[in-house]
Amino acid sequence: MSLDSYCSHITDKINTGILVLDLDYNIVMWNRFMQIHVNKKSDEVLGKNIFEVFSELPQRWFERKLSSVTQLNTQSFCSWEQRHHLFELPHTRPITTDSVFMAQNCTFSPVIDEGKITNICILIEDATDVYHYQTKLNGALEQLALSNRIDGLTQVFNRKHWEECLANEFSRARRYDHGLALIMFDLDYFKLLNDTFGHQGGDKVLIDVATQVQSLLRTCDIFGRYGGEEFAIILPETDLTGAIDVAKRVRSTIENMTVTFQEDHIKATVSVGVAVMNNEDKRYEDLISNTDIALYKAKSSGRNMVFTAKETRECA
Ligand code: GH3
Ligand code: MG
Ligand code: MG
Repeated sequence: MSLDSYCSHITDKINTGILVLDLDYNIVMWNRFMQIHVNKKSDEVLGKNIFEVFSELPQRWFERKLSSVTQLNTQSFCSWEQRHHLFELPHTRPITTDSVFMAQNCTFSPVIDEGKITNICILIEDATDVYHYQTKLNGALEQLALSNRIDGLTQVFNRKHWEECLANEFSRARRYDHGLALIMFDLDYFKLLNDTFGHQGGDKVLIDVATQVQSLLRTCDIFGRYGGEEFAIILPETDLTGAIDVAKRVRSTIENMTVTFQEDHIKATVSVGVAVMNNEDKRYEDLISNTDIALYKAKSSGRNMVFTAKETRECA
C-alpha cells in the first residue's frame, strides 16, 4: 500500500470530519465522515464554495476566523462551549439532547506547501457526548446550589443563605450610605397550634404563611426562614416608615388568612419586630438584635402586633 493509500484509508475511517478549502473558500477535499453526515455525494460538494454547501455558516465570523489562520499562519479553534455547532450535521448518538445537531469542536489549520499557505484544513470533532453530560452536570450542580439555599419545607431561603445575604446587604448599605430595614416575625402560640392540629397541620401553616408573605414583597426584598416558626425579611433601601408599612401588611395578611388542612380551617397570627440600620450598628448582628428586641416587645405586649425596638407602644 502506498503512503497516499494509507492516508486516504485513515482519512475515511477516522471519526472526525475533515474539510479542506482553497483560499477562496472552495471545498477541495472532504472525508467520508462528512459525506455521511451531510448526506450529499462528493461531486455535489467538491469545487463548491463552502457557504453555498453550508448556508448555515455565520459568514462574517467564519471569514474572519479563516483570515486570522492564513494571516498569522497559526491554528485556530472553536469549541462547543463557544458555539454549540458551526455545521448543521445531525448527531448519531442514541441520547436525547436539546439540539438535533452535533455539538462540535472545530480546528482550523493552515496547509503549507513549499513555504506558502495553499489551503485551510478544518477538523470537525463530534462533542455531542461531552456537551450532553456537561449540560446535565451543570443542571445538577445548579439544583444542588439551589437546595443549599432553600428551606425544604417552606421553599424560602434558609437561615444560612439569608444571613449571608444580610451580611452583603449590610456592607453595601454602609458603603453607599443607603437605608436598610429588617423585619422578623414569629408565629404566636404555635406550640398550641401544633398540639391542636398536629405537627403536619403546623407545617401547612408555615408553608401557607411563607407563600402569602412572599407574595407581598418586592423582588429585591430577601425573605428567609430564620428558625422553627420564625421568619425574617431584609428590605434594602427602605426607611422605618416603609418597613413598618410592610410589617403591618404582613401582620394583617396572616390574621386574615385561613389555612386549610384536611378537615380543619386553621387561623394563625404573628408578632412582628421592625428595625432599621442605624449609626451605632457596627455589624449586621446588631441589626438582628434590635429587630429581636422589637419582636420580643410585640410578644410581651400581647402578640399579633407590630413593634420597633424604640417604641413602647404598638405601631399604629
Ligand atoms: P410564642 O407565641 O411565644 O411564640 O409561643 P410559641 O408556642 O409559638 O413558641 P414556642 O417557642 O414555645 O414554640 C414554638 C413551636 O414551634 C415549638 C416547635 O415544636 C414548633 N416548630 C418549630 N419548627 C416547626 C416545624 O417545622 N413544624 C412544626 N409543625 N412546628 C415547628
Ligand atoms: Mg412562636
Ligand atoms: Mg419562636
